[in-house]
Amino acid sequence: MGTLTPIADLAKAAFRVTVQPALFVRKRAARYAMAGVDAAALPVCRVDAQSGRPTCNGECGYTESLSRRHLAEYRRADGSHRGKPWLGTACVIALTEQTSFESYARRVIQRTSNASRRLSRKAARAGYVTGFFHPPYVVGQMAAILSSKRFRSGGLVPYGLLDIGRRAPDHGHVGGYRPQPPCPLHWTLHWGVFATRDADGRPLPHAQWTLAGFVKLRRIGSLVHALQIMTHGDHLPAGAHDLMHLELVRWLMENPDGLAGGVTHFLYGALEHAGDGLAHWKLRRGFTPMLVELPPPS
Ligand SMILES: [Zn+2]
Repeated sequence: MGTLTPIADLAKAAFRVTVQPALFVRKRAARYAMAGVDAAALPVCRVDAQSGRPTCNGECGYTESLSRRHLAEYRRADGSHRGKPWLGTACVIALTEQTSFESYARRVIQRTSNASRRLSRKAARAGYVTGFFHPPYVVGQMAAILSSKRFRSGGLVPYGLLDIGRRAPDHGHVGGYRPQPPCPLHWTLHWGVFATRDADGRPLPHAQWTLAGFVKLRRIGSLVHALQIMTHGDHLPAGAHDLMHLELVRWLMENPDGLAGGVTHFLYGALEHAGDGLAHWKLRRGFTPMLVELPPPS
């Protein structure tokens, strides 16, 4: 994503090591109170890595190792996080505890005093649509989203300092794009929300759709976890972020592509991460603080 991306990654890593531990410790009790949970009785997100299944191939082990590295940043059901205050508490939607997407959405509407429905409907009326996309075709648009705000609820966004000026034009979105990962149990995919109309409200061809936000997702067996969730600052007031989230949860629960079968949990970051605004956003959308249980690789 440009020559400065390694520097931005380094800045993020340095923040995690030096500043994050103290921030997490300071915030934890307040965030647990905000969520209304008892630290001694958190529910458990049991992850079945589903390694070595018949659909697995050479890439699955690598994908699983990346997921394990990510999940090592969260507090564990076996208590192995004790003495490591910098580890966060996973925010998780227990998908299989919802009776249907509609019942999940109804609860979100109640918790957000209708804001979630109002925003997502506003975005849909304005022509925003959601779906998977092919990242190499929209590299410039992804960089524009990452750099659209230098400060977000999580503090400094190092990607906001990237130079996005010198790059070949994007190929653009492909209509009807459906990802086909080699193994349905272990994959990395990008879900996006697109603006599909021009300034006068006329529909644009697929290749001219603008990526307004995206979620980078990874699946390790029964768990899908988000690695990045970002919407371009210009598209936030239009409700694109809420539409993107709700339609992603619908996809996870209804499994129209056969790639979400057997997914029981959706994890998005730590409760202690970022400002109160993001923590409220997650809690109102049904993310619950949980301890992660992940058996070691066999
Ligand atoms: Zn696999």
